[in-house]
Amino acid sequence: MIIVMSSEATEAQLEAVVKRVKEQGLDVNISRGTERTLIGAIGDERKLDQELLEALPGVEQALHILKPYKIVAREWHKQDTVIDIKGVPLGGRQVQIISGPCSVETREQMDLSAAAVKAAGCRLMRGGAFKPRTSPYSFQGAGVEGLDMFRKAADKHGLPIVTELMDARQLDTFLEYGVEVIQIGTRNMQNFDLLKEVGRVNVPVILKRGMSATISEWLMAAEYIAAGGNHNIIFCERGIRTFETYYRNVLDVTAIPVLKKETHLPVIVDPSHAGGKAWMVPALSRAAIAAGADGLLVEMHPNPCEAWCDADQALNPQELIKLMGELRGIAQVIGREIL
Ligand code: PEP
Ligand code: MN
Repeated sequence: MIIVMSSEATEAQLEAVVKRVKEQGLDVNISRGTERTLIGAIGDERKLDQELLEALPGVEQALHILKPYKIVAREWHKQDTVIDIKGVPLGGRQVQIISGPCSVETREQMDLSAAAVKAAGCRLMRGGAFKPRTSPYSFQGAGVEGLDMFRKAADKHGLPIVTELMDARQLDTFLEYGVEVIQIGTRNMQNFDLLKEVGRVNVPVILKRGMSATISEWLMAAEYIAAGGNHNIIFCERGIRTFETYYRNVLDVTAIPVLKKETHLPVIVDPSHAGGKAWMVPALSRAAIAAGADGLLVEMHPNPCEAWCDADQALNPQELIKLMGELRGIAQVIGREIL
């Protein structure tokens, strides 16, 4: 059961509810979000009386949630959650295209990238300073210096930044640099200790789908973050592994409506890591927006042939501008908008 406390509920009222749940032999998980506190009752729910709990002061609602994932489930939160990223809404009517290079390379590359992201009309910028590479001999990212390059380049254009966290030991540095959105990559979707750590902060998190993860595993991974109190979670479909080898991954377009049904949280798509080739990116992007994605995460490099990482799949600045134009048209047709 989930017990939703009202935004005005006092600490004493919260404690009284917890006491009541524990008296029935159940345990609790208290998830303190920025907007509301949720009490998850863990154990035999049949012992809890919904009406009696709702009668307690400070309780807004008590709900039996049938799904194994609770806080992220649409079952208790019918409206779409809109996440505010420094004034940029994600999850509402406005569709957000997040763009930038795969990896942070040099100050010049980041300055050119930020200018191109801004010129294309994107309101959020991506870039990896810590890179999860298949080979230990590949470029591993510019690290903390890369974060610094990214921060400075993005700040010149007022762009909030999205960057991948691979190791909880870097979390404080991310907070120091004011990273606006923490990305959890496909390889870490089930790194539960990392998920718990980002669950303790209030920074929005993009949770990429594990390359072999089922929808339910993905939702449960998000629940780890939510259970810790961070309710600002954005799902990102980035393609899954199948028998097909023509392209890097298979973009699971079906996951978009399915997730929108299962969760109230925003769902975005990364067409770059799905297709793995720049020429596939426009078609996959159009499909994703048409299918109801709340945004995209698109790789763009000022000079793709010279990219240190994922050169094949990066759009150039002109291609990004063209794509934005096409996507604006699609958004309009389905009653949404891209600024
Ligand atoms: C990335 O976005 O740069 C990345 C490494 O993505 P993924 O975790 O989806 O492979
Ligand atoms: Mn990449």
